Amino acid sequence: ERLAAVNAPLTPGALKDGTLVPLLANVGSPNDAPAAVAAGAEGVGLFRTEFLFLDSPYAPDVATQKASYVALLKEFPGKKVVVRALDAGADKPLPFLTDKDEENPALGRRGLRALRHHEEILRDQLTALAQADAETEADLWVMAPMVADVEETEYFVSLARELGIRTAGVMAEVPSVALMADQVLGVADFVSIGTNDLTQYTMAADRMLGTVASYQDPWHPAVLRLVAQLGDAGRAVGKGVGICGEAASDPVLAVVLVGLGATTLSMTPAALADVRAELSTHTLDEARRMAAAALAAPSAAAARSAVASVVTSL
Ligand code: PEP
Ligand code: MG
Repeated sequence: ERLAAVNAPLTPGALKDGTLVPLLANVGSPNDAPAAVAAGAEGVGLFRTEFLFLDSPYAPDVATQKASYVALLKEFPGKKVVVRALDAGADKPLPFLTDKDEENPALGRRGLRALRHHEEILRDQLTALAQADAETEADLWVMAPMVADVEETEYFVSLARELGIRTAGVMAEVPSVALMADQVLGVADFVSIGTNDLTQYTMAADRMLGTVASYQDPWHPAVLRLVAQLGDAGRAVGKGVGICGEAASDPVLAVVLVGLGATTLSMTPAALADVRAELSTHTLDEARRMAAAALAAPSAAAARSAVASVVTSL
């Protein structure tokens, strides 16, 4: 079956009934683009721009950034490319952006909080992205990491628009933003769910700490209920709700996430073939029944077996 997936033609992501589910790639550099294209990615769902500057002692200037963004966007003419503003802090400290000596950096001034504190760095990045967009043919979307509420969403979206970004959204990684999904989606053009951090913060278990690794399971119904809330809010206003955390690369969970309302799935390119193959074996109605079973389960393990039972009964 693995071989079949590997040899399958690189068709667009779709369910058995033809419902399109664009399959996008997570990348950390323009150098990752060829592998993404070769694996049939229909665009980029997460460009982790902080990976470009992990060793840089100084904030990169506009010209340096623009060159990297042009290099990536040029690989995806006519395709969606979702770029994340620098997500510094906790597991990914940047010397020029991250406070030293925080006792609990996962709950500290990270992501958008750090960018807002150093607004000139965020302005430079958005300016570089707008300039790169003007010179290339990709469909550029830009999003902020670690957004906690509606006010932060308004801040980011209005600054992005001021600086020439046409499509601006936020990541849903903090439970507070998922709980306010309807209002957040009233402001943002889209949301993209980072299931790694959304799981970490929902379960209050450090994703880097081995002793609590068992909590880091995106099958947990508590996490899936937040995804459902975001999916429902997106559907109500006709805006995209993507998934860009590791959860999207688990083929069966990917189908469940579509059943919960995810409109695109973004993952490491190596996972695309198996997810594409699994999606093609289920209708949207089946995906929704699988999602309902997972939501009603009391635990991650129970959600897995409830979904497996639904699949067997189909
Ligand atoms: C996530 O949190 O799920 C995510 C996609 O972002 P990162 O893994 O880079 O924190
Ligand atoms: Mg994250």
